[in-house]
Amino acid sequence: MIEGIEAAYYRLPLPLSGDAGHGQIDAEELVTVALRADGLVGHGYAYTIGRGGRAVLALIEHDLAPLLVGQDAADVEALWETMWRRLLFVGRGGLASFAIAAVDIALWDVRGLRQGQPLYALLGGSPRLIPAYGSGVDLPKPLPELLGQVEGFLRRGFPGVKVKVGRPDAAEDEARVGAVRRLIGDRVDLMVDANMAWTVDQALERGRRLEGAGLYWLEEPTAPEDVAGHARLATTLSLPIAVGESLHAPSEFRRYVEEGAVDIVQIDPITNGGITASLQALALADAAGLPTSSHYADELSAHLLCASRRPVYLEKHAFALDPYLEAPQEVVDGHVRPTQTPGTGLRFAARALAPYRG
Ligand SMILES: [Mg+2]
Repeated sequence: MIEGIEAAYYRLPLPLSGDAGHGQIDAEELVTVALRADGLVGHGYAYTIGRGGRAVLALIEHDLAPLLVGQDAADVEALWETMWRRLLFVGRGGLASFAIAAVDIALWDVRGLRQGQPLYALLGGSPRLIPAYGSGVDLPKPLPELLGQVEGFLRRGFPGVKVKVGRPDAAEDEARVGAVRRLIGDRVDLMVDANMAWTVDQALERGRRLEGAGLYWLEEPTAPEDVAGHARLATTLSLPIAVGESLHAPSEFRRYVEEGAVDIVQIDPITNGGITASLQALALADAAGLPTSSHYADELSAHLLCASRRPVYLEKHAFALDPYLEAPQEVVDGHVRPTQTPGTGLRFAARALAPYRG
């Protein structure tokens, strides 16, 4: 039985970063959840790029915690439905999904602790070695700094790197992508991410200009609401289209997959609405034969991608939570593995977080 859910809010400073869709980013918000049930404590979290985190905290404290206390923690999938329905009027996605995710992750952790199984095993996966790519949030960086960051990714042995595109001048994007390609050579995969900055017509034009760079994918070329637009881009451009971080409900993934609007399905167990919801996205990808990748949430994603039929890459994000974790994810020769301990294996280091409590 769930005895209590405690949530906490932190504001973690970031070095100046940004992209074409979200503008400047100078902080990450972290909302942690500790869920007590039957003598076990499961941990979950949600994050934001610096906005909306206090609303996520309020939803957990005022709506989800009172709803779940007294219920059986073992009913993870049923509790996800219960939370989703409770917030339906203000939810069906958006930041309600972030709040549900934080609690859902804690419930999966409890399930793993109770069964003595790591998360990937609960999800029906086996512990695979997954290629990781170095991912920068680097649109404001001058070219020398951008190349310096990419050099750092190469030193860590990543078989792929991703840079932002969407500078106002298309020629600048081309020059930056070209310079990165020359630096990394042809044996390292190169992805680009426009963070929803373009109209569909702009994305067609920009995409065509980038087609010669041998890109592994073009991520979030246009607004996530425009599924038909993504489908047009996916069929017209030779670049594979990757989406997922801005989809906040399983039904959104379903539309993308059914309408042929996505070539690579990217999951994020926080923005998608939890591990329960990301699993549904992976199942849709599997059924359609689509490859999968991840966005942020590196540690949880390593487990989730083990439950996917065609995981091509885990994103090793520039904003990794490493400084705040008891055991940061290890990258060996550009690859990661899921943790082997029961549950998610994710534990925040209270002392590291303490100065940022809000
Ligand atoms: Mg992205």
